[in-house]
Amino acid sequence: MEKFDAVVVGAGTAGCLAAKTMAEAGLKVCLMDRKPKEEIGEKICGDALGEHHLKFLGLEKPHSGELEKRIEGVQIYSPDKKTIFTIADKDFIGYILNRRLFGQWLLKKAVDKGAMLMDSTRFLEPVLEKGFVTGVVAKTSAGKKVQLQSKVVVDSSGFMGVVRRKLPESMQIEREIANEDVEACYREIRQLKQENENTRYCEIYLGGKVAPGGYVWIFPKGGAKVNAGLGICMRGNFPNPKKQFYEHVLTKPQFEGSLLLNGGAWWDPTRRPLDNMVGNGVVLVGDAASLVNPIHGGGIGPSMLSGYFAGQTIVEALENGNADQSALWSYNKRYNDTYGKKQASLDIFRIFLIASNDEDLDYGMGYKLVTEQDVLRAAMGEDFRLNITETARRVFRGRKRMGFLNKLRLTVNMMRQVRAHYDAYPETPETFEKWRQQTVALFSQAKAKLMK
Ligand SMILES: Cc1cc2nc3c(=O)[nH]c(=O)nc-3n(C[C@H](O)[C@H](O)[C@H](O)COP(=O)(O)OP(=O)(O)OC[C@H]3O[C@@H](n4cnc5c(N)ncnc54)[C@H](O)[C@@H]3O)c2cc1C
Repeated sequence: MEKFDAVVVGAGTAGCLAAKTMAEAGLKVCLMDRKPKEEIGEKICGDALGEHHLKFLGLEKPHSGELEKRIEGVQIYSPDKKTIFTIADKDFIGYILNRRLFGQWLLKKAVDKGAMLMDSTRFLEPVLEKGFVTGVVAKTSAGKKVQLQSKVVVDSSGFMGVVRRKLPESMQIEREIANEDVEACYREIRQLKQENENTRYCEIYLGGKVAPGGYVWIFPKGGAKVNAGLGICMRGNFPNPKKQFYEHVLTKPQFEGSLLLNGGAWWDPTRRPLDNMVGNGVVLVGDAASLVNPIHGGGIGPSMLSGYFAGQTIVEALENGNADQSALWSYNKRYNDTYGKKQASLDIFRIFLIASNDEDLDYGMGYKLVTEQDVLRAAMGEDFRLNITETARRVFRGRKRMGFLNKLRLTVNMMRQVRAHYDAYPETPETFEKWRQQTVALFSQAKAKLMK
């Protein structure tokens, strides 16, 4: 049986960064994916990536086939389309990627550093011994079962979390993600008859009639191509995303005579990070650990970040000769200190958005209760500041919408509370259970107060 320091299950953006980081440090790494090599990177996605993520990770800007279009920011349309927030700032400069080629670009980086790619191989189950994950059982495309031994297994299998779902309860890792914390998405890449007028910004359209709890996006890809789709919160009797897309998005004049290049559906987990992402001999990264921005659903950046942090932590743990939960714990802390606390506080804002109706959002955006600057600040992980002027207060009182104002105020306070709570993320597993219970209580409270 072949032995590795680490087996990374899934060669997406998270897995490639984890494999690259560990291989670079000299570990013997197997990077496994169910897809054949040439299909790695292909994904139903909006394909948008903020430049700041690459800068943070020390990765160069995409410049070749992996880059389809450089963008200057985002435009957010209110449900009645009367208000448009244009969020253009150096931190919102980004790229619309050719997702397959971007994936291939990352894969090459991992393989060039020495990670061994095992493609067309499907993970089946973890090998568990005395409370530790000690390897994986997988199946090759030829139908052959293989078993690999490994000091650490990384679950980077994306939304399906194929390793996570088979871990024992004693590892204190949530195995299931609630439907209401997931967006069901449908997306198409289309060739338009002519280039849209706006190709500088990514466009986001809010509105509960079309995309309840989510939004519609139209992102320019260059060469009169667009990436367009919608995400819907899987809460209650939610509508079918593809049907909504065909009835409400493709009927826009810009799509007349357009050609379908690629279409499909997938899920995006938009809640706070899993409260704990490590167990004895196992680490969860990317979508498998629910590491997506709750507001815009972007997960390429955080998944790469998590892969990088996980890789670093595993290297340190193995240098000290121990990969139990305590030795791997600092990965939780690293991720939460950088992106996780922002993600968690934005999850509160997501709950507020789900609970708000279209009219409230129209007024809220129209009267700039939250300004473009605030959205920008919040997106960068800073505090929201409310801008409730006397005029706005009068209008909202007159329209009997004070409940909305109060909920917005409450949201901002709870976001602060959550950030402070994440600042106190436990240093070791011993105090985790108490922290976890407080976390669950905070989010249950937010749902009870904001969704009533
Ligand atoms: C419709 C949609 C639009 C999105 N738009 C954006 C966007 O514009 N910008 C953005 O930043 N994020 C976006 N996201 C989120 C983003 O796509 C993910 O957060 C990101 O791809 C997560 O990367 P990952 O490496 O964790 O998982 P993935 O990219 O899903 O990679 C998982 C890998 O694991 C492999 N795998 C799965 N099961 C097995 C198995 N049993 N054995 C072996 N291998 C396995 C898969 O083949 C795959 O290669 C969007 C998501 C959706 C659904």
